[in-house]
Amino acid sequence: MTDVSELMTKQLIVALSKGRILDETLPLLADAGIEPAEDLGKSRKLLFDTNLPNVKLVVIRATDVPTYVQLGAADLGVAGKDVLLEHGAEGLYEPLDLEIAGCKLMTAGVKGAEPAQARRRVATKFVNVARRYYAEQGIQAEVIKLYGAMELAPLMNLADEIVDIVDTGNTLRANGMEPRELIASISTRLVVNKAAMTMKHEHLKPLIERLRAAVAKRRDHHALAAR
Ligand code: AMP
Repeated sequence: MTDVSELMTKQLIVALSKGRILDETLPLLADAGIEPAEDLGKSRKLLFDTNLPNVKLVVIRATDVPTYVQLGAADLGVAGKDVLLEHGAEGLYEPLDLEIAGCKLMTAGVKGAEPAQARRRVATKFVNVARRYYAEQGIQAEVIKLYGAMELAPLMNLADEIVDIVDTGNTLRANGMEPRELIASISTRLVVNKAAMTMKHEHLKPLIERLRAAVAKRRDHHALAAR
């Protein structure tokens, strides 16, 4: 084996989702023995060294994480189940639920309004999830892709219903809406490129196990705190 290909098979690139998930991911990574070489929040860089010479981190948009991992640009990634459901699981293993950033993917509508019985207009950024869900329910739906502020769509008569992430429900309530049906319970998952899982198994396996232990430790800690 040449030096370069040896380096490639030993190097592990981890793709992290920017934003709310990142803050909860970093302590888990630290517990698993991986720490960024510099403060991710203070830098405009996107590719980071870590304390481990063979592990690098990329910090990218959550919706790009499955693409990076599926195509092998990253060996493993951290992404919300919402993003994974929307993207599809081709080329990805999902070996571990990191049990962070829990929320629900739900339908929601204007408070007190009856769901439209005929063809329902649904605004969402999760168009694939929404199409699948309404088809499974036997409800005819016209799915309208939006990139943000879904709660505005029913108020502006752009849609009858939305499919969106609900955590506390405050965003819905503040806009005169209410949650309707649960589509999926969401948490953050570790995903691994399928080819890397075979080719780099000896490097990936211990890392996944250390993360699994970090998740279990965090779970025990929370259980103790709740007593
Ligand atoms: P809430 O008002 O607490 O129900 O939060 C709802 C909004 O926060 C949604 O519109 C989402 O954009 C965002 N949100 C809440 N939790 C998460 C999460 N775990 N992952 C991604 N977005 C979230």
